[in-house]
Amino acid sequence: MSDDLRIDRVETVLLDIPLRRPHRFARASMDAQPVLYVFVRTAGGLTGVGEGVVPGGPWWGGESVETMQLVVERFIAPILLGRRVDDIHAIVRDVTDVVAANLYAKAAVEVALHDAWARGLGVPVHTLLGGLARTSIPVTWALGTEPAPVVIEEALGKLDAGLHRSFKLKMGAQEPADDVARICAVAEKLAGVAGVRVDINARWDRLTALTHLPKLAQAGVEMIEQPVHGSEIDALAEINAALPVPVMADEALRTPSDAIRIADRRAADIFAVKTTKCGGLRASMEIAAIGAAAGIPSHGATSIESPVGTAASLQFACAAPGVTWGSELFGPLLMAEEMLVEPLRYADGELHLPDGPGLGIELDPDKLRAFRRD
Ligand SMILES: [Mg+2]
Repeated sequence: MSDDLRIDRVETVLLDIPLRRPHRFARASMDAQPVLYVFVRTAGGLTGVGEGVVPGGPWWGGESVETMQLVVERFIAPILLGRRVDDIHAIVRDVTDVVAANLYAKAAVEVALHDAWARGLGVPVHTLLGGLARTSIPVTWALGTEPAPVVIEEALGKLDAGLHRSFKLKMGAQEPADDVARICAVAEKLAGVAGVRVDINARWDRLTALTHLPKLAQAGVEMIEQPVHGSEIDALAEINAALPVPVMADEALRTPSDAIRIADRRAADIFAVKTTKCGGLRASMEIAAIGAAAGIPSHGATSIESPVGTAASLQFACAAPGVTWGSELFGPLLMAEEMLVEPLRYADGELHLPDGPGLGIELDPDKLRAFRRD
């Protein structure tokens, strides 16, 4: 048994998965989502998979799928070879001794270890995390930076189809006053029928945020995500105190230490927890637990993962008691190709946990070949 769990191969595959429509951020846009799949294989024939992915490029946190592939192949894989897949705490410690930061790359590996370990035991990944707090989670839909009429039409279509009950809009691509006018038009149109949230992706300074955000709250925006730079915890706390609606920390929150600092300063009312940016399932569980202890709910946030990374985030979001503020695990819905043999199940505005061991999914080998980057 013990030899069966030893890692004898680590493989990485880069893919570009086409999207249904271009997805726009303040300064980046993408037609396809690049992803890195990391496969951990054991002597006993187990395979675990984890996904390295960022929202469209290195603008968010400095990593890209290309940097992740290099870090995993050159620096992390040699540490894994010969180790047992269930030796996760020691492996994470040893990887940290060799590779600082690079949490997205580390997350891909850490998830692959959990997937292989759980498959070896014949249990779902959430069993390794302490079992289930829920079996499905609400999914917010992300609307782009297009003009208000375009965005409203898309939102109403999703509402009519019963696919989503709330929407998140990206801000920061336009002048603040124009951007605010656009969002207010959307919020007023959707008032009473759907929740409207905004993500400024750390684009504004303190004064811009204090000047413009109260108008959004007044127009009915129910949550404001990361208005200022991730390092500006004091400004975030000041903005959070000034607003009648919750502020969510995203760029400011990557590690359990960040979570403690944000909770201590009351710099946010909600934690955006991503298994990707936080370095994997274990750190995500710790951050959600810190939030819960501080009375701060967590949100199952996304880096626009394909179904592999989404399944990992879903295992976390369903296992962590503190993830009570829904999710934005819409990545697979944005993609034009379903990468799995059996698609993830979205129904009634929620994403439902699949049955089965490991992450509960099976990759389609034809799709893997089709979208592999040469
Ligand atoms: Mg965000």
